[in-house]
Amino acid sequence: MSGLRIAVDGPAGTGKSSVSRGLARALRSRYLDTGAMYRIVALAVLRAGIDPTDAARVARLVPDVRLAVGADPDGDRFYLADDDVSAQIRGAAVTGAVSAVSAVPAVRQRLVELQRQLAAGPDGIVVEGRDIGTVVLPDAELKVFLTASPQTRARRRNEQNVAAGQPDDYAGVLADVQRRDHLDSTRAASPLLPADDAVIVDTSAMTEAAVVEYLIGLVDDHSGARR
Ligand code: C5P
Repeated sequence: MSGLRIAVDGPAGTGKSSVSRGLARALRSRYLDTGAMYRIVALAVLRAGIDPTDAARVARLVPDVRLAVGADPDGDRFYLADDDVSAQIRGAAVTGAVSAVSAVPAVRQRLVELQRQLAAGPDGIVVEGRDIGTVVLPDAELKVFLTASPQTRARRRNEQNVAAGQPDDYAGVLADVQRRDHLDSTRAASPLLPADDAVIVDTSAMTEAAVVEYLIGLVDDHSGARR
């Protein structure tokens, strides 16, 4: 157990989830997928029949959303009220709604508070998201920002979709990656940006295993520096 709090940020399709899970497993530390939390709120918005771009109505719903997330890299399940929504939050409807929902300040306020509570304590944790190093855990011991070209990211996402039984649609996925990049990096509340002290890793030409290996090296350097 490293005992470190590690922030892994970056846009969609950089291999962030697999890399973060792999790192948490290798370090035997906890793991938190903050994107899944935004996805649960987006699903609650859709289930309530609210237009995701209606910020005022989304904000009013926020206190009523009962969400629960796992913090285990192997067995994480996600719940909305008592409903296991782990598969549904990865569907196209939620993916289409989540950027608008996550731009609502009341949503971010509630989820950031929850994320800080979940990350607290002496045990190490790998927290993946978009604003972990900048907003959620600005004092994390290690901050990583993963990048890759939009084409690489779209290819990876499309492959994941096909493996999950969804249609093969590289052009559609590329358009969605670019649309979400734009929304996430230009929104007023917590835009997607690397922290000043983040290590930026371009994963375009790296396998996931190679990225995990590289990050373990950074953790070792950090631990060595503390000895
Ligand atoms: O990582 P994932 O693709 O599941 O994230 C879904 C969406 O949630 C992102 O496109 C982004 O709009 C939002 N998000 C966020 N802040 C985070 C994590 C995710 O705004 N820390």
